[in-house]
Amino acid sequence: MQNSPKPQMQVDETKTTINIEASQLKDKLTYSPYQLSFILQSSLNLYEILKRFNAELNKVIAYQSLHYYHSKTKQQFELGKLHYHQARYQLKIENLDLGELTLSKNVPFSEEELSIIESALVQLLFPVKNALAHEQAIKLSITDPLTKLNNRQGFDIALSREVEFSKRHRSNTSLLVIDLDNFKNINDTYGHLAGDAVLHQFADSLRELHRQTDMIFRYGGEEFTIILSHTAENGAMQVASRICQAIYETQFKYEGTVIPVTVSIGVSTHQTTENSKSLFSRADSALYAAKSNGRNQVKMS
Ligand code: GH3
Ligand code: MG
Ligand code: MG
Repeated sequence: MQNSPKPQMQVDETKTTINIEASQLKDKLTYSPYQLSFILQSSLNLYEILKRFNAELNKVIAYQSLHYYHSKTKQQFELGKLHYHQARYQLKIENLDLGELTLSKNVPFSEEELSIIESALVQLLFPVKNALAHEQAIKLSITDPLTKLNNRQGFDIALSREVEFSKRHRSNTSLLVIDLDNFKNINDTYGHLAGDAVLHQFADSLRELHRQTDMIFRYGGEEFTIILSHTAENGAMQVASRICQAIYETQFKYEGTVIPVTVSIGVSTHQTTENSKSLFSRADSALYAAKSNGRNQVKMS
């Protein structure tokens, strides 16, 4: 622990840069007038925490904007337009990077204001740390380790959200359920590791073929789903046919051996009142029809 409780501070004519270490701030003033800590700790959503922090701090200091950026997760929030005079803070607890926070004003910050900001920031550190950890845990729990795609849990959350959006805004949401053909044969012929490699390469192909990668999911085993927002029947059929054809033409390889891979795809488009379960079940029936009809093809429900 350092002897001086003062944060390092460099001041030039227009900018103030302050690096905060939790250990340095331990003995600093606590910001109590609005029970800031209590207010911030009641949410695990980073944006919500920053909004509350901004609202509370704005009650005591008139500034124009609060910007936040966390380089590791690329999270960025901008509350207000950036002005000329800036106080920039590296938020850290020990060596853990909690992002960079910039406050700005059209006139310079006074020493007294900076001191209030610093004591308020002490109370922001732990809520931000908890929110980042919470987000990371959720991200891990919805990621499939083999393909790095979102898993079924992520799919269920996303599909419900999209269907709700579709209902509210009368927009079109379509769904593709994609299943690798005769995949058991691939395992039996080339081995389970080759099967894994095919699944891995298949996920990469889907990412290349469909830009909105956060909407591709490994539903389970050799079954994948893609949610298409703002896409009606025709558009969905086009996407599905393009994927089916591209996979047929792609050379899948494991240890130098070429493995032929095809997929069958079931497509459904959301109907005004139906729920996500029914939308999925229709795409799944269409998939079954594509399989019965000989595989390596697309069917719509
Ligand atoms: P169909 O064309 O009707 O879909 O036939 P299929 O052989 O693809 O379907 P089936 O459901 O009979 O077999 C799926 C196989 O996928 C069985 C299972 O062992 C295999 N599988 C599921 N997950 C994995 C995985 O993570 N790695 C590997 N290598 N195989 C997997
Ligand atoms: Mg299969
Ligand atoms: Mg299957």
